[in-house]
Amino acid sequence: MGSRKTSWAEPFKIKMVEPIKMTTREQRERCIKEAGYNTFLLKSEDVYIDLLTDSGTAAMSDRQWAAMMLGDEAYAGSRNFYSLEEVVREYYGYKHLIPTHQGRGAENILSQCMIKKGDFVPGNMYFTTTRIHQEIAGGEFIDVIIDEAHDPSHEHPFKGNVDLQKMEDLIKKVGASRIPYVSLETNVNMAGGQPVSMQNIKDLYHLCKKHNIPVMLDATRAAENAFFIKEREKGYENKSVKEILREICSYTDGCTMSGKKDCLVNIGGFLAVNDDQLCLKAQNLVVVYEGLHTYGGMAGRDMEAMAQGIRESVEDDHQAARIGQVRYLGQKIKDAGVPIVLPIGSHAVFLDAKKFLPHLDQDEFPAQALAAELYVDSGVRAMERGNVSAGRDPKTGKNRRPKLELVRLTLPRRVYTQAHMDVVSESVIELYEHRKDIRGLAFDYEPENLRFFQARFKKK
Ligand SMILES: *Cc1c(COP(=O)(O)O)cnc(C)c1O
Repeated sequence: MGSRKTSWAEPFKIKMVEPIKMTTREQRERCIKEAGYNTFLLKSEDVYIDLLTDSGTAAMSDRQWAAMMLGDEAYAGSRNFYSLEEVVREYYGYKHLIPTHQGRGAENILSQCMIKKGDFVPGNMYFTTTRIHQEIAGGEFIDVIIDEAHDPSHEHPFKGNVDLQKMEDLIKKVGASRIPYVSLETNVNMAGGQPVSMQNIKDLYHLCKKHNIPVMLDATRAAENAFFIKEREKGYENKSVKEILREICSYTDGCTMSGKKDCLVNIGGFLAVNDDQLCLKAQNLVVVYEGLHTYGGMAGRDMEAMAQGIRESVEDDHQAARIGQVRYLGQKIKDAGVPIVLPIGSHAVFLDAKKFLPHLDQDEFPAQALAAELYVDSGVRAMERGNVSAGRDPKTGKNRRPKLELVRLTLPRRVYTQAHMDVVSESVIELYEHRKDIRGLAFDYEPENLRFFQARFKKK
């Protein structure tokens, strides 16, 4: 019984719509040229289906909009701060909450509080904003993710796992005193939205405890990670996303959070820690960079909407539909023979641009070129995650040429329908059929920091 019932249909109905417009190919060719072949520089109104990012793009629920009306815009001690604090304690389990304007605000505070010049910060693959704050604070990022994560076709169920041997080797080589913390990301974004297993989190925590190294979670997609643990890890099939999320956090000492992802809000973030001294230090820095420690750059109403968003984010049905939609898109593209990162991750489908465009050298930015062509073909906006995003090695000045050269089709939460997914997959498949015609790109303007955001290119 029930064997036919595999649908991931959304646990909501639509109450309000936002019109979007189709454009002509000629219009799109002009737009992308004006944007320097960088999809970050397109105007949103020239985009038909926007899969640039899942960051801050979620549709809020009627309950979240109602929560916005409960905003207490007091400068200090807003009621909404206390309600968010209560929710973070209940669902994530950390003792202290320090709100920030978004995830990178929390990363800045954490890095400044904990990293000294010459320190090493291990992490399971880098994230752009996380690493730059670690570097600005004087640290060096060390990748300790398992090797499988760098292989786009390897179907490891927990490709986000930390390689504990790499971790032990680092401790042996530099000494625990030069490792201020481990930065553990859940559903590793740059690896394709790949989860970490509970066993791995537990083992990492115990290894770190032995050496007195704190584990700091990048909890941005921890609730989505919890859903994968429920599906794939023995012993968790009957636990709820909510219970699993709490357990993940119990093996860590604090977290940074971009509320714009799992938490279903358009802006916001936080730092949460258990250690009292670290909390005092962070509260003292947050007033410099973000705002008083009871708002940290967020409006009261936004804190209330985030509190409600967190409650909704741990619903099993929500995650089943969220991840189900990503898989629906990924499966269609995969079935047509287009190379993508496997297994299909949580928040996006990643096209393997190296395999898609083997005639281009990585310094001709195949993923950047492919994202631009996709926009021209159908008005679908995606994002490069490859050589442009990875930037230059500060020591050699050369492009980092990462193993993964990807185009990310990122799905906003609760925004698009299955029919939109069909439009996207049809366009990707058509481009694949004409892939030999796609030309590479060269820099026209290359910014110094996080160059992928503002770089401009010309066609080769
Ligand atoms: C988005 C993101 C961040 C940064 O958060 P912002 O809210 O964009 O500043 C950090 N880590 C991960 C994994 C992210 O996806």
